[in-house]
Amino acid sequence: MYYVCFDCGKKVEDEYIAKIRCPYCGGKILYKDRRTVVKIKAK
Ligand SMILES: [Zn+2]
Repeated sequence: MYYVCFDCGKKVEDEYIAKIRCPYCGGKILYKDRRTVVKIKAK
């Protein structure tokens, strides 16, 4: 499980989430990578 930094787009491991910040750029906006659960309605 990991999150993605909104600023630099790098993957952030769970262990860093406790600090609520990106270890690479210091960004505080992180979101879950939900690509695996996203469903696109194709018609
Ligand atoms: Zn970052």
